[in-house]
Amino acid sequence: MILFIHRKDLRIHNLPALDAIRSAQCSSLHVLILDPFLLRNERNLEHSGVNFLQHVARLQKQYSRLGKQLHIMYGEPAVVVNQLLLKHPIQEILYHADYTPYALKRDLELQKLADSLKVKLTSYDEATLADLQDFVDWSGRTEPYKVFTPFYRRWRTYINERFRPSYSATLEELETVELAPDLLESFLPPEEINKQLEDMRNSLEADDEYGVLMHTLDHFLSERLNGYSISHDQYAKEGTSRISHHLNAGSLSVRTIYEQLMSMDGDTETWLRQLAWRDFYIYQARLDPNFFRYENVFDQSELSTEHFQVWAEGCTGVPIIDAAMRQLNQTGWMPNRLRMITAMFLTKNLGCPFIYGERYFRLKLSDYDNVLNRGGWLWSSSLGFDASPYFRVMNPVTQSQTHDPDGTYLRRWMPELAHLSNKEIHLARPEAIVDLKSSRALAIETYGRILKTKETKKIGAFL
Ligand SMILES: Cc1cc2nc3c(=O)[nH]c(=O)nc-3n(C[C@H](O)[C@H](O)[C@H](O)COP(=O)(O)OP(=O)(O)OC[C@H]3O[C@@H](n4cnc5c(N)ncnc54)[C@H](O)[C@@H]3O)c2cc1C
Repeated sequence: MILFIHRKDLRIHNLPALDAIRSAQCSSLHVLILDPFLLRNERNLEHSGVNFLQHVARLQKQYSRLGKQLHIMYGEPAVVVNQLLLKHPIQEILYHADYTPYALKRDLELQKLADSLKVKLTSYDEATLADLQDFVDWSGRTEPYKVFTPFYRRWRTYINERFRPSYSATLEELETVELAPDLLESFLPPEEINKQLEDMRNSLEADDEYGVLMHTLDHFLSERLNGYSISHDQYAKEGTSRISHHLNAGSLSVRTIYEQLMSMDGDTETWLRQLAWRDFYIYQARLDPNFFRYENVFDQSELSTEHFQVWAEGCTGVPIIDAAMRQLNQTGWMPNRLRMITAMFLTKNLGCPFIYGERYFRLKLSDYDNVLNRGGWLWSSSLGFDASPYFRVMNPVTQSQTHDPDGTYLRRWMPELAHLSNKEIHLARPEAIVDLKSSRALAIETYGRILKTKETKKIGAFL
């Protein structure tokens, strides 16, 4: 028997682990472990937790519709897996890899456990478009790419030449098994979470959830792809795909998305380049040993958290910042351009260490992803591999005038400003908590000094 642990792969199509189970021709036990650590502090009620649980509910429905077994267990992963190995004749454990520090530590525990019980443990990479291990070998570099453009050029050739087609096994072909009844009891999710999942399952309207996801993708590709290069920054028009919700939970495979994209006519490259940014951040997370520890690499003691709360509540007096934070707080969504502007405003104009904003987005973004969120915050605060230069401080007023000239977005989220003219509406209010010009000048001086404090640590070994 094979134990398959679902993680950020909440789907039943195009998964390497399903192909492996089919090839092994044996039964499989499919579990999803809700980790109390990751759901701590009522995370299940925040936008990011709600989005994740919605995908879990959708997955449960997909399994049950096919008459297959998926067991939702609640507990510390190594403890749960230990019990599973003791109660079931499991010969191999399969999962799809994740490279955050927490995931690596968790999987090391699983490896030790599997070794001690002489069970095979196999992980598969499936999150990126390019197979990163193969890409590194193929690109023949001794140092990782640190700048996006050369990475992208090589990556593009790789994708053309070596894109690995989709995985073909389907859940229908597999024989999933029941969980030992006492284990079900021992690792039952808390009442509140069970109820949340049940409500979510009941509110899923469609008979074919996967078909609905594919329809969303097809709709974007057929209706919006060609205008994307112009519209993606016009945030009032919401011209992007919002596919991040699905990519990050794994409810759609990035390979499926690529194959659909390549079947389209017109400008496919601009959007593909955005997907390459995603691969680039995941590449950095694996190859830059500082990626998850830049807060320790630079001395940021000059910065302060004084204005953090006001920023988070959207009360800074700078309309574009406050509108974007309101949208985030109320809906869990903020378009990419506004993520850049609000992050740069917090770290530069308000002089706050990036980890505070990063942590806030972790709770509030419904499409939260540990790697992409950190990548975005590193970029905005001029830290990391291919970050914005320290002397670049976006002017929020100019950004607002450029990307939302008639103030549609501002009027939507700040109705109290709706009466202002198109010219006035973008301007910082008299009560704004900082002066944009002087805070910009101060940020350039401060970050200039911070970047000189870099602790030198050698780039890590290749994969
Ligand atoms: C401070 C900050 C924090 C961020 N936090 C997250 C996060 O937690 N989760 C997340 O998915 N993205 C994050 N991003 C990246 C980006 O904002 C989102 O991926 C994008 O807004 C998702 O919208 P979409 O799916 O409509 O994108 P589209 O424009 O339709 O692009 C398609 C896909 O390409 C990838 N992509 C697009 N832009 C970027 C980018 N700048 N960097 C990396 N990948 C990109 C995403 O996977 C996205 O879903 C962050 C960016 C910043 C500046």
